[in-house]
Amino acid sequence: MTDSSSLEVPESVDAARTAFRAWLSSNSVELEKFRETGGDVTDVFERLRHLQRMLFDSGWIRLGWPESIGGLGGTAILRSIVSEELAAAGYPPPFSFATQEVLGPAVAEFARPELAADVLPRLLCGDETWCQGFSEPGAGSDLASLRLRAVRTDSGWRVSGEKVWTSWAQFADRCVLLARTGSPDSAHRGISAFLLDMDTPGIEISPLRSMNGDEEFCSLYFDEVEIPEERLLGDVDGGWAVAMYVLAGERGAAAWQRQIWLRTRLNDLAGAKASVIADSVVGESLELLTALRLLSRRTVRALSAGVPVGSTTSLDKLAMSTAEKYLFDAALNGVGDDIVFGGDATAKAWRNDYLYSRASSIYGGAAEIQRNIIAERLLGLPR
Ligand SMILES: Cc1cc2nc3c(=O)[nH]c(=O)nc-3n(C[C@H](O)[C@H](O)[C@H](O)COP(=O)(O)OP(=O)(O)OC[C@H]3O[C@@H](n4cnc5c(N)ncnc54)[C@H](O)[C@@H]3O)c2cc1C
Repeated sequence: MTDSSSLEVPESVDAARTAFRAWLSSNSVELEKFRETGGDVTDVFERLRHLQRMLFDSGWIRLGWPESIGGLGGTAILRSIVSEELAAAGYPPPFSFATQEVLGPAVAEFARPELAADVLPRLLCGDETWCQGFSEPGAGSDLASLRLRAVRTDSGWRVSGEKVWTSWAQFADRCVLLARTGSPDSAHRGISAFLLDMDTPGIEISPLRSMNGDEEFCSLYFDEVEIPEERLLGDVDGGWAVAMYVLAGERGAAAWQRQIWLRTRLNDLAGAKASVIADSVVGESLELLTALRLLSRRTVRALSAGVPVGSTTSLDKLAMSTAEKYLFDAALNGVGDDIVFGGDATAKAWRNDYLYSRASSIYGGAAEIQRNIIAERLLGLPR
């Protein structure tokens, strides 16, 4: 296996792709164990953590990140080829890949340089996982109404309140947390963002079971949790900018990884033994995924060039949930009995993916909210 010191930053996306394909092929024996996707969540996490470490040690996952925070440099767009080529070769995305693209860029942008240099290498190499503490009971779509309170102390902040739907918080080492630091009616102008260590005393984590059977979400209860001043991300009362940066990553760059995976599931569906999918349904699904890919490619390129993406990522998010739901509706119709009753790993995977596809029009901002944003901010329609 190559180590990262021998990996030169490729000059172009095409060169990176060619070099990564060659690396995948020459390491295929060692990578074989990562093709397995089943097992309980802890096993899956552990397996993917190893894959992440292997990609970090060989340098691939460090491409497109600044050297000051553990990367090898190069443009951010180089990051997009890794998940794409892994999926094309039949491997899952590594452990914290989605978190990396959703939370990593915001911490790189808004954390103090010493903090970013300390924590980002740990995220990239898979030693740590992070979670996103935004939503609260009563503050999901209307995120600006969040109430979890942070008050000033001599050395930082003391936080009390509640978060909900925090994905994989039970495994997380750190949390990007939004808290109210302004007056109760200060809306988005009175929110600050923090990077909180999840082992800080006063945090209670209660996993919640979702309909696919996984305990993906958690409720988080904060009872006078102390956060040092240096963990503030951005400015006091400037957390909305951090939140929007995170959501641009979640609605944009993370959609890039999702569309690649959805395309492999469409291939699986079209080739499934028990499948009775009409060509027109496969065609429609392919069209939706192609539209998503083109939108997402535009966003990934803009983010890489440092061009603000504004509200356009709502198009990506809406296209993603539309394509995902269409694909798994087609799967339910085409291989229905297997999805509903099958006991083998393939049937379980279809069942899980169908159920999870229902959430695609909720997480990262519900479909109705994306439609509102598109109508008001992109099309200029009245509220
Ligand atoms: C799988 C999954 C993972 C998640 N992970 C995280 C996470 O890690 N961290 C985190 O902070 N949150 C997470 N969430 C929460 C997610 O961000 C919220 O569920 C989402 O923002 C919607 O908020 P809500 O659930 O409070 O629904 P509500 O805001 O109560 O909305 C309920 C319904 O009303 C509609 N609605 C609300 N307001 C309007 C309006 N103005 N116009 C039209 N329709 C409207 C919505 O579209 C929706 O259909 C996750 C959710 C899911 C499903």
